[in-house]
Amino acid sequence: MPEPTRPSALVVGAGLAGLTAALELAQRGASVEVWDPAPPGGRARSRTHAGAIVDLGPHALYTAGAAARHFAHLGLTLEGGSPAPLLLRRGDALHPFPTGAWSLLRCSGLAFPARLELAGVLLRLPRTRAEGSAAAWIDGHDHPDTRAFLRALARLSCYGGDLGRMDVGALLAQLRQATAGVRYLDGGWQRLVDALSNRARAAGVVFARHAARALRPSDTGWRVEARGAVREVPHVVLALPPSRAAELAPEPTPHAELPLRAAAARAEAVEVASLAVVLGELPRRRAPFALDLERPLYASVFSNAAELRLDPTDPRPRHVVQVVAYDPPHPVEALEAHLDLLQPGWRAHVLFRRFAPALTVHHGFPDHTRGGLAGRPPVALAPGLALAGDGVGSEGLLADAAVASALAAADHLLPARARSDAA
Ligand SMILES: Cc1cc2nc3c(=O)[nH]c(=O)nc-3n(C[C@H](O)[C@H](O)[C@H](O)COP(=O)(O)OP(=O)(O)OC[C@H]3O[C@@H](n4cnc5c(N)ncnc54)[C@H](O)[C@@H]3O)c2cc1C
Repeated sequence: MPEPTRPSALVVGAGLAGLTAALELAQRGASVEVWDPAPPGGRARSRTHAGAIVDLGPHALYTAGAAARHFAHLGLTLEGGSPAPLLLRRGDALHPFPTGAWSLLRCSGLAFPARLELAGVLLRLPRTRAEGSAAAWIDGHDHPDTRAFLRALARLSCYGGDLGRMDVGALLAQLRQATAGVRYLDGGWQRLVDALSNRARAAGVVFARHAARALRPSDTGWRVEARGAVREVPHVVLALPPSRAAELAPEPTPHAELPLRAAAARAEAVEVASLAVVLGELPRRRAPFALDLERPLYASVFSNAAELRLDPTDPRPRHVVQVVAYDPPHPVEALEAHLDLLQPGWRAHVLFRRFAPALTVHHGFPDHTRGGLAGRPPVALAPGLALAGDGVGSEGLLADAAVASALAAADHLLPARARSDAA
């Protein structure tokens, strides 16, 4: 029997970052193994409930972001749609949501001077440059409605966090991405996870259900240990949250102190409270999305824009609704009350319901006092060792950061010109 191939690269963590890094390294000629105690996908995995596909909270792909660009480059087919019409909640009234300069002028939910001011903000957005905190930039606008709308947009596009510390450059970049549009995916984000894992397997990547417990330098590069498994490899990508990565090498090694704890200290998590429901009937079809102007809340009927039935030939409707409250804690009643306004009577049609009081959305809060995106932990940690994930590297937020850092990790370990040395 032939000897099993020894991996030349080990990727720890099979979320979007790990899958992207593994596929990229394999395409550059490495023989890659991926460890994760859970099935591939991490936070991008969907679950099935009551005949519907439900993501872990509301997941929208920014169509102009690093992740969507890379998936297009890979030729992945990711069908889906955008939520419409969008509504803005003010008090207990719903108004048309301004999506551009023209619709802003007609937005009844905002005072007229604010509409004019916001139209200018949107028109200048592609060229706007600012430094400091998001709060300072927002507070520099004249009208209270302008400031309230910009705060709501900041929450929506960055998933909240302390606006007094949020870097305005990161916010502006995210707002520019948001104006280019988002897509809800048919089949949920599991479709994306499956597409990436299948590509990786086809490129020779091997998946193993190990939880890494220790990492240290070795004669051949790096030694990674799990219960019942050890690998010594020249290349390692740690594609797990920086705080978990730091646990793998808690003490200084005889060779050097790995900068994992320093990296973990620079990665700040952002959480939300999340309510997901599957409904057998949708009380108001034309009200699929509402962002609250005054409270940190939004709700969206994902199944209005994407096919989320487990069996699309099944004629029974399945409506998947996601409600989010930023910067927890929030009682579940606050999220339910928001849905009461958007979809009155929804409680009579619940087939599945899940409330998560605090989900980690990402680990890459861009704190302007630490340099914004550039102050996050670096991808290149040491020769042959890289970090990847949505808390790492200086590009993008959320899945865009996960994918961008994974590609940068592959560049650090196997620059494209060194392909022939890979194996
Ligand atoms: C509620 C919510 C809403 C979101 N909305 C959006 C959105 O609209 N748009 C967007 O772009 N992004 C969104 N995201 C963020 C997106 O899901 C993440 O950025 C992305 O999935 C992170 O991928 P990752 O690989 O960095 O991390 P993860 O998905 O966390 O993957 C890390 C993996 O490491 C594994 N692991 C941990 N410890 C070990 C160990 N010791 N050994 C081996 N493996 C280990 C874990 O099991 C996990 O699979 C959202 C996330 C949430 C939770």
